Amino acid sequence: MVNFGKWSDPSVPHKGWACTYIEDLGSPDQTCEMCEKEHIRYVHYMSHPDYPGELQCGCICAGNMEANLVAAQNREAKLRNRSSRKRNWPKLRGWHTSVKGNLTMTKDGYRITLFKSGQGFKASVVELTKNVPFYSKRIFKLELEAQSASFDQVEHMKENN
Ligand SMILES: [Zn+2]
Repeated sequence: MVNFGKWSDPSVPHKGWACTYIEDLGSPDQTCEMCEKEHIRYVHYMSHPDYPGELQCGCICAGNMEANLVAAQNREAKLRNRSSRKRNWPKLRGWHTSVKGNLTMTKDGYRITLFKSGQGFKASVVELTKNVPFYSKRIFKLELEAQSASFDQVEHMKENN
């Protein structure tokens, strides 16, 4: 990969990049902007003090750009793990219908509840020890979408704990 695209352009720095964000596209929908060859599903956003804007790169290029392939691989593995847990989230056995008729689940110290809001659904996540609800930002058309968003809410609350 390192002979292609911007790797052969001397005006683009080859080292000293840092990753600012990583994203799962769900399928390999994009081409790495560094080698301009690899089709990527997990996008590593790379920035450099001497380069305007960011490059959206695959794991190998990102690892070379930051001179730490292991760091790039770990980052991607963590996101892969998260994506598979998110896919599995609606299938968890804990989901059941509450007395109020809402789909709900208690997991890892959080109570997740999906409820009707306007024309759609929202999710609330309550950390049981704190009892402060964190509501989904948007109203979702489908209950399934609110359920999927509740996974991200729980992850966000875990990360900020
Ligand atoms: Zn690449």
